[in-house]
Amino acid sequence: MAEGPGERTALWVQGCTIRCPGCFNPHLWTFRGGEPAPTRAVLDRVLAAGTEGLTLLGGEPFDHAAPLAVIAAGVRAAGRSVMTFSGYTTAQLNRAVHSGRTDVAALLEATDLLIAGPYVAALVDRHRPWAGSTNQEFVQRSDRIRVAEAVATRDRLEITVAPDGVLSVNGWADDETLDALLHDLGRPQRSRTALSR
Ligand code: SF4
Repeated sequence: MAEGPGERTALWVQGCTIRCPGCFNPHLWTFRGGEPAPTRAVLDRVLAAGTEGLTLLGGEPFDHAAPLAVIAAGVRAAGRSVMTFSGYTTAQLNRAVHSGRTDVAALLEATDLLIAGPYVAALVDRHRPWAGSTNQEFVQRSDRIRVAEAVATRDRLEITVAPDGVLSVNGWADDETLDALLHDLGRPQRSRTALSR
């Protein structure tokens, strides 16, 4: 419930060529690592989750456009929505399409809500949900996810407590809120890699 409107399945891809200074997921820049899996198996797992839709995050989804387009199209065919984050601007994505990148076109075609643009540390967005910085653009590509309704959502944190007491925190909160939360929980140390923003 922290990665877009409603209850969604989130899929982080391993590998990003954009490398924004201040990125919160630098461990996802390298194209080594992650969990390799057949496209169909990932789609089946997403559909089996039974959530309202899929959110694609990174790394950079458009650096993996071909397999993600297949997965996203399968999610859409099942009547669910797809939200895609990208560090590329809409102008860059459109140029790629016009230069013949059918994989980029296919992923755009299968996306209902696109959040596009690099993270700019000097422009931190403290108002819109999910956006890292104010330069990022919300692009409504269908009526399945309406931007006006989506941005009315507040930022959310999802906290998982494992049986051994380890806390995993995912989602969107400013540093002060997160520090206060972890302090109240008696866990003043935090790992940046646990955060998506
Ligand atoms: S913010 Fe996104 S696009 Fe930018 S370097 Fe990090 S993963 Fe890549």
